[in-house]
Amino acid sequence: MSDNINQPANQTNNQKNVQSLTQPLTHDDIRNFVPPTHCLDGKTILVTGAGDGIGRVAALTYARYGATVLLLGRTSSKLEYVYDEIESLGGKQPAMLPMNLEGATYAEMQQLEGLIDKEVGQLDGILHNAGVLGQLTPLEMYDVDTFAQVMKVNFTATFMLTQALLPLLKDADHGSIVFTSSTVGTHPRAFWGAYALSKQAVEGMSNIFTQETQNTTNLRFNCVNPGGTRTNMRAHAYPGENPMSLKTPEDIMSAYVCLMSNESIGVRGQVVELQPKD
Ligand code: NDP
Repeated sequence: MSDNINQPANQTNNQKNVQSLTQPLTHDDIRNFVPPTHCLDGKTILVTGAGDGIGRVAALTYARYGATVLLLGRTSSKLEYVYDEIESLGGKQPAMLPMNLEGATYAEMQQLEGLIDKEVGQLDGILHNAGVLGQLTPLEMYDVDTFAQVMKVNFTATFMLTQALLPLLKDADHGSIVFTSSTVGTHPRAFWGAYALSKQAVEGMSNIFTQETQNTTNLRFNCVNPGGTRTNMRAHAYPGENPMSLKTPEDIMSAYVCLMSNESIGVRGQVVELQPKD
């Protein structure tokens, strides 16, 4: 996928929209999507964990394709840096929403909903990307406080924020909620503890939200599993691995854009693996 904001579209929005409405995209379509230049124009997208790793690159990419991006994260200095990056690439003015999801209360998330409604007036998508790894250790020895912290950041806060922001998302023409899972969320693995369990819970939540909304709203809920990607989290999980052997966040952005764009209308309740093994 090109980083060039001026990259010509290989097809118009209108052509693809008609196709999307009649025939939902396959996972291959989503992974190999070539985003039309302005495919996120007019959309407001909130990204959690927007200060670093995959979330930072997703925020920049959404801005490149025309979205107004709301940057949620726990480290203000990192959000400021991403804010400046978006401004320097000529994107629409973003907003910074500093929030530590570990301690955040439901009341604070409801206040956030009111703030977005008042200041921005719309919300078309959320990329739930923030996450922590916790410990890699047997459950028998897992520190219970760390367990609670991982479940709160990766799962409970994700649920709370989704519920708090649903009124705005339901007002959107086609709201898209994208959760972030992991291979160990789909296939639990020994020693991955709370991280694997939190990701399993996220996949279950996406499935339940889909069932509960698909007949009565235009909302769509999906999960992405990025696969091994060159970030700080991956380096902590696999300290002996050569990072240069991994894809970068930029390499996997097609699917992130696709799931937020109207091209993916009709795609619901999916877990899209971004780096499937052959
Ligand atoms: P990073 O550790 O590089 O980035 C994680 C982001 O989440 C950071 O911006 C971090 O903020 C933010 N974050 C962590 N805790 C909190 C919190 N309490 N409140 C708010 N924000 C928080 O991870 P990746 O980019 O690698 O991971 C992104 C997502 O992708 C995660 O959900 C991860 O589980 C998933 N994933 C990643 C894979 C990989 O190989 N990289 C593979 C499979 C899944 P700060 O910078 O301030 O610490």
